[in-house]
Amino acid sequence: MTAEFTVQGHPISELAARFGTPLYLYDGDVLREVYRSLRELLDPRVDILYSAKANPNVSVCAVLRSLGAGIEVSSLVELITAHRAGAAARDIVFLGPGKSVDELRACVEMGVHAVVCESLDEVELLNDLRVPGGVDVMLRVNPAFTAKGARLSMGGKPRQFGIDQAVLLRSRSFLRSLRHVRVMGVHGYMGTRILDAGNVVENTRGILAAAEELSAELGFDLETVDVGGGFGVPYFENEKDLDVEALALGVNAAVADFLGRHRSRVITELGRYLVGWCGTYVVRARYVKESMGEWFVVADGGTNHHMAAVGVGSFVKRNFPVRSLTRYEEPAERPYNVTGPLCTPNDVVAKQVALPEVRPGDLLGVERSGAYGPSASPGLFLSHGYPAEVLVLDGTPHLVRRRDTAEDLLGKQQLIPV
Ligand SMILES: *Cc1c(COP(=O)(O)O)cnc(C)c1O
Repeated sequence: MTAEFTVQGHPISELAARFGTPLYLYDGDVLREVYRSLRELLDPRVDILYSAKANPNVSVCAVLRSLGAGIEVSSLVELITAHRAGAAARDIVFLGPGKSVDELRACVEMGVHAVVCESLDEVELLNDLRVPGGVDVMLRVNPAFTAKGARLSMGGKPRQFGIDQAVLLRSRSFLRSLRHVRVMGVHGYMGTRILDAGNVVENTRGILAAAEELSAELGFDLETVDVGGGFGVPYFENEKDLDVEALALGVNAAVADFLGRHRSRVITELGRYLVGWCGTYVVRARYVKESMGEWFVVADGGTNHHMAAVGVGSFVKRNFPVRSLTRYEEPAERPYNVTGPLCTPNDVVAKQVALPEVRPGDLLGVERSGAYGPSASPGLFLSHGYPAEVLVLDGTPHLVRRRDTAEDLLGKQQLIPV
């Protein structure tokens, strides 16, 4: 008798039969627990905004919103998503290096807490909209210090994001000349996948210090400071869980110190950390075969839905946590290469991962996959389309995104007379 993987009492075999595979499965209990335990630890004066890009599903956003999270968005559709998820305008910020005029107008119409401007031209463009009463703007600073510990750094070096601290410090007269924007805050985001609590604390201190310097030099009050985040989820061997207790101690001290001098709203924006843990990418093994001494499981989904599992950016292939969901409790029997159905050798979800025996029809899961899944993957490759997404909430599985159909994929194409 083998124990299979279950979510809130639902056996994976039943969920897979009902919703089909490949499938993204989100456990609402885990989603809530991660948020709540972080919320408990952080100073209540720190507002948590959910970075929708990590998992833009409207129901996922709605769960986090219902727990008190605001939402940080970076496109028109993410803005609409945040609104539909029930976020109040004052709990939405809009950022991104390439906002369109339409996006800026939508922010104004909705009355979001702030537009995070990432270039001086963008500030000017916003000013040119001549919104009566002015638009609230936070300046995204590319700080003079470098991010430590980020696997992908977004600041402290030449980047398309934000405005160099040195440039901002020279922009006092320009910013003061603008009549229709109101600079009321500073935003900083140093990078993602940080697993060292000390690095997050250091980044927070650095951004708060940069914000204080900018407000003093440019002459505006710090109504809001967004200190970014970048909290990581360990995916690979030798990676350790982020110590959120140590992180919270350090961040709370930095924030308390800062709030002793300023009456500010302090925001942290988190994507991966909030949703990464709750998600499992579920695939079904179609064929199992041996090739020149290695075993291959060819599954019905692969990197077309889980690009992160390819391990872009590292020379050595590192595996996400992959488990047999059908034989969840069984000990590993041999190493397998788990691949998807694409016709490219790069479609490898896991290389030489030790698993119990895999038979055709078995379900396999890539765990900790709630962040940067389908929306960050080439789902149109080979026209497989995007998978179904299911959220189990309070014991009930809900289809929160249906699988793409042939018509979804072909309906946008035009067959011309040839
Ligand atoms: C992507 C991004 C986030 C979310 O990052 P995570 O590492 O997923 O928490 C937050 N802020 C900005 C500016 C981003 O670009």
